[in-house]
Amino acid sequence: MEGPLVLKIHPNDNVVVALQPLPAGTTVLPGIVTRQPIPQAHKIALVDIPAGGAILRYGVLLGHAKADIAQGDWIHEGMLDLPTPPDLDSMRWGTHLVTDLPAPPVSSWEGYRNPAGGFAGTRNYLGISTTVQCVSGVLNVAVERMRRELLPRYPHVDGIVPINHTYGCGVAINAREAHIPIRILQSLARHPNFGGELMVVGLGCEKLTPEMLVGAEDANPDNLILLQEQKGFEGMVHALMEMADRKLARLNERRRESLPLSDLLIGMQCGGSDAFSGVSANPAAGYAADLLVAGGGTVLFSEVTEVRDGVHLLGERCVDEPTMRKLADEMRWYDRYLEAGGADRSANPTPGNKKGGLANIVEKAMGSIAKSGSSPIVEVLSPGERPTKHGLIYAATPASDIVCGPSQLSLGIGVQVFMTGRGTPYGLAAAPVIKVCSRNEMQAQWPDLIDFCAGPILTGEATLPEMGERLFREILEVASGRKQSAAERFHLYNDIAVFNPAPIT
Ligand code: CA
Repeated sequence: MEGPLVLKIHPNDNVVVALQPLPAGTTVLPGIVTRQPIPQAHKIALVDIPAGGAILRYGVLLGHAKADIAQGDWIHEGMLDLPTPPDLDSMRWGTHLVTDLPAPPVSSWEGYRNPAGGFAGTRNYLGISTTVQCVSGVLNVAVERMRRELLPRYPHVDGIVPINHTYGCGVAINAREAHIPIRILQSLARHPNFGGELMVVGLGCEKLTPEMLVGAEDANPDNLILLQEQKGFEGMVHALMEMADRKLARLNERRRESLPLSDLLIGMQCGGSDAFSGVSANPAAGYAADLLVAGGGTVLFSEVTEVRDGVHLLGERCVDEPTMRKLADEMRWYDRYLEAGGADRSANPTPGNKKGGLANIVEKAMGSIAKSGSSPIVEVLSPGERPTKHGLIYAATPASDIVCGPSQLSLGIGVQVFMTGRGTPYGLAAAPVIKVCSRNEMQAQWPDLIDFCAGPILTGEATLPEMGERLFREILEVASGRKQSAAERFHLYNDIAVFNPAPIT
């Protein structure tokens, strides 16, 4: 076996992680011999840990040993109890504000400025909003025709994105939490990549009216088609084609221009994580986030159940007390949401996460928050709330890839950076998703689906700052349209799963 065999993250840790599969009887460090075969990315005890003893990784408590663990033992998920989550009432703020961030090597990118201002676009798409799923069948047929017959005439438009979703009717539209899906759909309609052109397709009898979606002023015949008002299927397709033609002609005038990083909004997410995600991919993303923030850019990170166990560390990075309090409130809201469903944060890790060496949600969370880098948190957003500041922002969303994606998208992200250990072909239609993998083996497995491999950090071929800076440059290449992400190249687009914590009727 070549290279280092194990990795220790924090000096206080009493476990190390296997960098490759290790047979029983392997001397991994002086005096420490594996007692069982150790799968790649899994943990090995550095010392004897008695039943009830602390298991420490990232310098934090992952849990307590359920039974005696011997030095050299494989520690897997069945062997530790979950500790209680950090107390939300005793969080501190502003005690860990890092201001000496690394300086970005580049300070501009090429994007699409929008008439309404705000963050700029990274692509030029015709976005077609829907008020209700009932219209999706007709819209999808019409969009196929638009792509075939209209799009070739407008070479400066990158594509057409229908925003099909399952909200809109058969829902308790006035329920307490209904503002969350509604706000997400309202914001999606005005995504920066859609250039301020509104096109809304409704049925005519749904609860989410076009007026609720885009406002009374914009729900006018220039932007709105109601299928119940059209003459049959042919009439519907004709109306949709005609409106799309007009919108595409205007979008075709959009051009990229050189913009400062302050016009760029990036989202960070992870999924299909393994125990290396928190060592290579997420820290590289965190370094890139620091460069973006230092250059005036704005970065979102999310996924409530994956920050819950490290939230005390995030509180210390909040710039003021109201920001920290809002962070705590978002955690409380989600604790209650899970409780109402008879679950808690331990429901988060997947079988794949565990196979990838993540013993529980604490270990997953410590890896997950590494993607936020080290800059101060300037704002905390409730689901669907749009950013009002520049810098690092915590935007509360579920951790589910398929729900976090559209939630961040609705906030106007131009690119999503997506870290994975075990691999997912996930993508979003309205903004490029850059796939960053944690291990060289993952890239070898999916060379055409992974955009960026952070594995060289594990093998010592590159340092974290080197890989972070390379990822920063990759983000700007994709944002500027000089490069397509893999998911974009293959048109791998997931459905728009809007977060709806409110009742369906
Ligand atoms: Ca996720």
